Amino acid sequence: MAGHHRIRHGKGEAGENEMRRFSYAGSPARILFGSGISLDLVSIVEEAGCSRALVLATPHQKADAEQLAAKLGTLSVGVFAGAVMHTPVEVTQAALAIVAESGADCVVSLGGGSTTGLGKAIAYRTDLTQIVVPTTYAGSEVTSILGQTQDGRKTTVKDPRILPEVVVYDPDLTHGLPVAMSVTSALNAMAHAVEGLYAQDRNPVSSLMAVEGLRAFAKSLPVIVREPGNAEARAEALYGAWLCGTVLGAVGMALHHKICHTLGGSFDTPHAETHAIMLPHTAAFNAAAAREELAPAAALFGGLIGGGLWDFAKSIGAPMSLKDVGLVEEDLDRAADIASENPYWNPRPIDRASIRGLLQQAYEGNRPTD
Ligand code: NAD
Repeated sequence: MAGHHRIRHGKGEAGENEMRRFSYAGSPARILFGSGISLDLVSIVEEAGCSRALVLATPHQKADAEQLAAKLGTLSVGVFAGAVMHTPVEVTQAALAIVAESGADCVVSLGGGSTTGLGKAIAYRTDLTQIVVPTTYAGSEVTSILGQTQDGRKTTVKDPRILPEVVVYDPDLTHGLPVAMSVTSALNAMAHAVEGLYAQDRNPVSSLMAVEGLRAFAKSLPVIVREPGNAEARAEALYGAWLCGTVLGAVGMALHHKICHTLGGSFDTPHAETHAIMLPHTAAFNAAAAREELAPAAALFGGLIGGGLWDFAKSIGAPMSLKDVGLVEEDLDRAADIASENPYWNPRPIDRASIRGLLQQAYEGNRPTD
């Protein structure tokens, strides 16, 4: 988690002849990683001090959640398979009624960011223990951030109660993640790492994790695209997801996350796809202002961060343009207005005109130059 005091890094502040300055706070979550580890859930629930688990899932993963509940046996009080995108408060309230009725003392969230979001929304209101079993690369399971929607408005809260206590990363559960979703989910995770590298409150550990996470995805994604059931590549990608998610939980984000939040919140574009499309463009936008910080990442993608990420995304079949996710050109003006209305920190200062230009490039799906 980020410290309360943001340490600013100016150019050269951490240079050879100057004193380093940073703050670092390790996340208190327990992380368990390994092929087949989800089979140990009975002991994992017991070790968390719990005995009445409510298993959460989306309707799509209901059967998997029921199987998991059956494996938990008497430790399970049932399944709530109503999780949906954007964590609507009505769904949280319906789940809270089941929590109260069943006397659950923990939630086991099986799925991606949407299911994890529901578990977080419950824990935020009840402080129940959360055990998350991720099946995508979104990274939400290692952050204390919750985005929720009420009456069509998305708000974000950050609170220690929101951070899941235990995360069970079992790569075997990701073998069935369709290739297209694997690609967009991974690029979503990689965006956390790229922005983490130039975050104002970055620290040496968050930067090491970011580069290692990007390396893991650069290596594993091309293999997953060719061979979705490759166990080694699936494990490497999930390892990358943990690292990139941890970076998101540890340091502040900037332009990229702000633009994706705007597009998802105001134009309902799909979450992971939007991140995938925007990443090469936002990275190129910040490339010159954060050249030194981004250099180890750029090296992984052929030397240029924006152009290199664009080539990589194209080679693994990612969606490449905002046209692909239903945006129309007339939306770009309003998107630029919203994304530039509240000032926020970014390595390259932003203004409406530059954001409008960036959105045009992403709309057309052009290869960025940086
Ligand atoms: P998702 O959780 O919405 O999942 C998309 C669909 O894929 C669902 O139907 C799900 O059941 C299905 N699915 C998941 N894993 C599968 C698998 N292995 N095989 C087959 N189907 C599978 O998608 P996501 O991209 O993981 O999460 C997106 C949401 O997470 C967004 O709402 C986003 O805002 C949120 N998020 C939050 C944070 C945070 O820190 N708060 C971080 C990242 C994402």
